[in-house]
Amino acid sequence: MSTDVAGEEIEVSGIVQGVGFRPFVYRLARRLDLSGEVRNAGDRVVIRIAGPAAARDAFAAALVDEAPVLARVEQVTRRPAPVPEGAFRIMESGAGTVSVGVVPDVATCPACRAEIADPGARRFRYAFTNCTDCGPRFSIVTGLPYDRPATTMAGFALCPACRAEYEDPADRRFHAQPIACPDCGPRLWLEGDDAASADPIDRAAALLKAGRILAVKGIGGFHIACDATNADAVALLRARKQRPTKPLAVMADLATAHALCVITLEEEATLAHPSAPILLLPLKPGAALAPGIAPGQRHLGVMAPYTPLHHLLVASAGRPLVMTSGNRSSEPQIFRDDEARDRLAGIVDAFLMHDRPIARRLDDSVARHVAGRLRVMRRGRGFAPMPLALPADFADAPPVLALGGELKSALCLTHGGKALLSHHLGDLDEPATGDAFETALADYTALFAHRPAVIAVDLHPDYRATRLGEDLAAVGGLPLERVQHHHAHMAAAMAEAGWRRADGPVVGIALDGLGMGDDGTVWGAEILVCDYRSSRRVARLSPIPLAGGDAASREPWRVLLAHLDRALGRAAVDGDPRLAALFAGKPLLTLRAMMDKGLNAPLASSAGRLFDAVAALLGLAPDRLSHEGEAAMALEALALEAAMENEAPPYPFALHADAVPVEIDPAPLFKALMADLHAARPRAAMAAAFHAGLAEAFVGAAAQVAAAEGLTAVALSGGVFQNARLLEETVRRLGARGLTPLVPAEVPANDGGLAFGQAVVAAARRMG
Ligand SMILES: [Zn+2]
Ligand SMILES: [Zn+2]
Repeated sequence: MSTDVAGEEIEVSGIVQGVGFRPFVYRLARRLDLSGEVRNAGDRVVIRIAGPAAARDAFAAALVDEAPVLARVEQVTRRPAPVPEGAFRIMESGAGTVSVGVVPDVATCPACRAEIADPGARRFRYAFTNCTDCGPRFSIVTGLPYDRPATTMAGFALCPACRAEYEDPADRRFHAQPIACPDCGPRLWLEGDDAASADPIDRAAALLKAGRILAVKGIGGFHIACDATNADAVALLRARKQRPTKPLAVMADLATAHALCVITLEEEATLAHPSAPILLLPLKPGAALAPGIAPGQRHLGVMAPYTPLHHLLVASAGRPLVMTSGNRSSEPQIFRDDEARDRLAGIVDAFLMHDRPIARRLDDSVARHVAGRLRVMRRGRGFAPMPLALPADFADAPPVLALGGELKSALCLTHGGKALLSHHLGDLDEPATGDAFETALADYTALFAHRPAVIAVDLHPDYRATRLGEDLAAVGGLPLERVQHHHAHMAAAMAEAGWRRADGPVVGIALDGLGMGDDGTVWGAEILVCDYRSSRRVARLSPIPLAGGDAASREPWRVLLAHLDRALGRAAVDGDPRLAALFAGKPLLTLRAMMDKGLNAPLASSAGRLFDAVAALLGLAPDRLSHEGEAAMALEALALEAAMENEAPPYPFALHADAVPVEIDPAPLFKALMADLHAARPRAAMAAAFHAGLAEAFVGAAAQVAAAEGLTAVALSGGVFQNARLLEETVRRLGARGLTPLVPAEVPANDGGLAFGQAVVAAARRMG
């Protein structure tokens, strides 16, 4: 029996499990010659150390300063305590200890990258190399606690060499659950190719270089890959995948990324970050890429290779590779082998396969640096399931399950002052996605042992997620909170910014596609005054009829007609030869009759549709969009050609302050656009003046509301704020008026962040 000596107990909270924290503590204690022990306790790590006071202080400081890359140390508390004598050791997690420890997948670390490039190393060119600092995590977890038997590595028995590393506290693979080597780990092979080849990666690279299209099994699903510099290969991929224009992401090493794009130091750090998202970067003029990669765009989605397999493939190909999600058209990304063989057979020429199963589909995350921060646009691999801290006075919030919206769906679970916003689950109007959503719901609630006390849903009664939430509430006898779409967007922005319930209301600017309002009409360009519990609409963009309902969201000319009729009058529209050409062959009579009678022509105040209309007027929108946001992205790309500093004055909007709600009227905008079209003003300047005008109109109106209500913070959210030019214009103009913008960054501004906002609203209402 060991005796105790005087020392101290140090408790560390934050993200400290499943991230190599205990071995880090072990090595640190050994380095500083301290005795004692470390163990997991709940979601904390508890350390007991004995030794000189100066060494203990240095130890406590290093816990924060030198923490493993994946850890997030939130709090360190120290108090005197007896410490067992003897060399420092790692204690096994006790039975009954709940280990949280599910962290996002992590891009290959520098040490592992060096190892696969070292001909003398055991893991030279091994595609599944990983360590405590890197490798698959969430994508291989099948249960808790996070331990090898509860991962898809369970079927791979460790060889003696790997076991020795796994059990050695001084080794960087100590307790690395996905540890593997060529002797005992997963294997690669190529299917659908007759050539005999010893190395599937080199053979796959040779096929890519020859213009072939490949399916590549990765971490969270299958990619479809081709040579990004080969115009024929890119055109063939688009034709086979039925994806005519939506930009394709490219995987490239850092040197190649620099050759293609203009990259800041912050952006370079994001490319090299363990989360390795697809990062939108400004294309260099004349970049050596096939023209079909991102037609009409000024930005390219670039991601770094994030597994050893990707590093080896990109190095062997020696060029940037298209890496787009492995699916047909708008279906969910495929992540199971047989499904890939079945569904991708008509798209790809060969399959680069491996035998490590993928536990759940995780799309690549998409992000962009705007207005001084990295803004996540799609939250997937590398980000989920990293918890988000709720504002301080949400610590006692009841556990909420929020089900999000219809498009870019995601779930949110709250518990103990934290929120778990799920990975991107796709658009629920696609039947296959709807099934995957229900699977993900069961997956998350089981994996995180979540028992909700409240269910939160959107106001829209026909969303699949709303109906599912209603069923869950009915079956479980739980209260159901319905949260207005744009109120949820604002609450998400407030909560991520740490805005407390006690801080009171804010002004909110919601610029969005479409969402159902309190009054049952369609909203999407509103100014709200809201706290967490409730919101009140004080201003809106003048509504226009969406002739044909959903069809108006796919065919921008329908919305343009409604705006022009309203702004100029029908006689002026019909008498303008330029507009006559633009609307040639379109059934204007039918549309106008629908709008007059209000037949299948719901009124909407949508910023997304305003972008569509302006893009159509400038000749940037096809008759029928092939993906949501296509026209708006083209308009933003054009605006970015005009420098922000020496822009022309913003286009005017009228403000009808006597209306209830106040109306922000775009009629003067359309008159000015027509005048500039006739004067043959450069379209880039027009696109820029439109962005500035929209920002100025909403900021001006918001400033009046803020002054009248005595408020100083303005929340900005909704999918339209993913437009970098618009967000920068808006933030700049708010700042000039002394107002503080609250803008989401880790939470997507689009509907991917809706569930997070619903969850905090529901929690705040239940807390009274
Ligand atoms: Zn590593
Ligand atoms: Zn091994």
